[in-house]
Amino acid sequence: MINVLNLTPEELGKKFVELGLEVYRAAQVLRWVYEKGVYDFDRMTNLSLELRGRLKSLFTVALPAEASRERSEEDGSTKLLLKFAGADTVETVYIPRDERRTVCVSSQVGCKFHCAFCASGQAGFFRNLSMGEILSQVLLARDLSPDKKLTHIVFMGIGEPFDNYKELLRTVKTLNSKAALGIGARKMTVSTCGVVPRIGAFGGEGLQVELSVSLHGPTDLVRGAIMPVNTAYPVKTLIDACKRYVQKTKRVITFEYLLIRGVNASEKDARGLAKLLRGMLCKVNLIPYNPIQEFPHEAPPYQEIVRFQKILQENGVKTTVRFSKGRDIQAACGQLRSCRKIETGSRKHEA
Ligand code: SAH
Repeated sequence: MINVLNLTPEELGKKFVELGLEVYRAAQVLRWVYEKGVYDFDRMTNLSLELRGRLKSLFTVALPAEASRERSEEDGSTKLLLKFAGADTVETVYIPRDERRTVCVSSQVGCKFHCAFCASGQAGFFRNLSMGEILSQVLLARDLSPDKKLTHIVFMGIGEPFDNYKELLRTVKTLNSKAALGIGARKMTVSTCGVVPRIGAFGGEGLQVELSVSLHGPTDLVRGAIMPVNTAYPVKTLIDACKRYVQKTKRVITFEYLLIRGVNASEKDARGLAKLLRGMLCKVNLIPYNPIQEFPHEAPPYQEIVRFQKILQENGVKTTVRFSKGRDIQAACGQLRSCRKIETGSRKHEA
């Protein structure tokens, strides 16, 4: 059986032709799936009964099971725990804010990068998600929005999108395709912990997708202490790659900068960051640390966050502070988890 969600619109068209089916039939199926949210061939009423039968014997639209759903009392964001065939689970978060309807998708089951502040890598790395598995998170999150529409997609869930590069690109293209979801490229953001070769490659793809880079420290000493990826791609190498990306694409990079009290949030760190980024086409998004049970860290007091922001702004670096959504349901930045098995009888899930 072929999962329709694992084929790009072009690939599905080709497959239909190979099978001796008219190519416009593929477009009809895609409209049912992506526009109308109908995943059952029996309900695709503009296809003949005979064709529906044939499609059912060849294809599926495979969606994960919803193992749990938690809704934030504070801000209405909703976290889904999704269980794929084979029992791997990931979390996906639907985040409504004013007119925006954002879904934060996971790109891997687990993560290899072991950042010292993030829950997602705590249980280790299991595998990459396929395009179909990423798209199905989008489809299920879409059902949570009142008008069954999403405006933004952020690849900021579990995993490192640039460590699953091929499927990431296919997913972005399918999300963007008018034949599928038709979400504007500028409405999508890919976030990376700083996989330098892929920043270069991504800049060459000719996409209008937004890029965020998790920086979290202005020097190798500060960043290296909390992000092991800094050994392979130190700060200067990373910033040089970002500068080349900006030069080539003329697109703004957003640097995410997590603020952890006593670790990377001093005035000296702020000045170092300002110096590092001054003059570059970029923005900084400060994220006060969200609590993770395994780590002793805490966010700096509010005044320190404001002072950090002020130092950057005084140096001409555009800076906003992001107070994460969904903290009360462990759905905020860095709080998502995935695993291979769900403990029965409890909401807690660990590998
Ligand atoms: N692997 C990618 C995608 C994850 S995006 C990346 O690192 O960019 C998730 C964002 O949340 C990253 O910027 C990550 O550094 C940040 N984050 C991780 N743990 C956090 C925590 N405890 N509090 C706030 N932000 C956190």
